[in-house]
Amino acid sequence: MLVNNAYPLAKKNLEKPATIIEVNGVKIGGDDLAIIAGPCAVESAEQMHTIAEFIASKGVKIMRGGAFKPRTSPYSFQGLKEDGLLLLNEVAIKYNLAIITEVLDLSLLDTIYPYTDILQIGARNMKNYHFLKELGKTDKPIMLKRGMDATIEEWLLAAEYILMGGNEQVILCERGIRTFDHTTRNTMDIAAIPLVKQLSHLPVIADPSQASGNRDIVVPLSLAAVAAGADGLMIEVHNNPEKALSDGPQSLHFEQFSDLIEKLKMFNKISGKTIPENLFKTQLS
Ligand code: PEP
Ligand code: MN
Repeated sequence: MLVNNAYPLAKKNLEKPATIIEVNGVKIGGDDLAIIAGPCAVESAEQMHTIAEFIASKGVKIMRGGAFKPRTSPYSFQGLKEDGLLLLNEVAIKYNLAIITEVLDLSLLDTIYPYTDILQIGARNMKNYHFLKELGKTDKPIMLKRGMDATIEEWLLAAEYILMGGNEQVILCERGIRTFDHTTRNTMDIAAIPLVKQLSHLPVIADPSQASGNRDIVVPLSLAAVAAGADGLMIEVHNNPEKALSDGPQSLHFEQFSDLIEKLKMFNKISGKTIPENLFKTQLS
């Protein structure tokens, strides 16, 4: 087995069982296949209620949605900010969903903290070491995106910074890395998934939406990630992707999301993971 003493807290340890993080009844890193779904960005009440109702009807228990968005261009939609947090809270209560949203900056932590169940650290912040240390002092699960230029070792060392702060609930998220080929937005590093599962006891989630930038390849990439041993998927889905204010081209239409769930059901025997019971019920009814 590959082990690396550079990150003693994150590394796989035969004495320590795999880390399992329970969020809204979903055991991330355990026997469940965790499905996190929702829009890239919170845009409006209508959008959030429509998407939340749809994903909840599919058995999804954790909703994503950015209220504060890290955008490449300062002229792009930056998120609804505090109003977005209120909308996340509204749908969380109405549809019994846990929330994951990005903490863009340390100065926003206190504002965002009460409205989220999982703190998302974006790819652009993976090397913000002071930020990682400070978030390590919090007591909510943290999803650490892999930096788009980060090696696997750098990614695990970033997780180590959080673990050193005392927060043991770290979820790693492979979201694609930048390569020479811009046909896809990023290159999904499928190999990273089984490799990190061998190197670390932490759960690994795949984000094929940011990885591909193209909704038409999100379903096969999702299946590939699950086959490679991912503990879950984070999927962007939108009620009207063509009109989305952020990441529309990579956001699934509802029918595509339903198709993904259908295919994951057929796949779960290979993955060894269980898809939440009500996903089956929904499909059968
Ligand atoms: C996102 O999840 O919408 C996002 C901005 O992700 P990343 O940090 O991986 O680019
Ligand atoms: Mn996005």
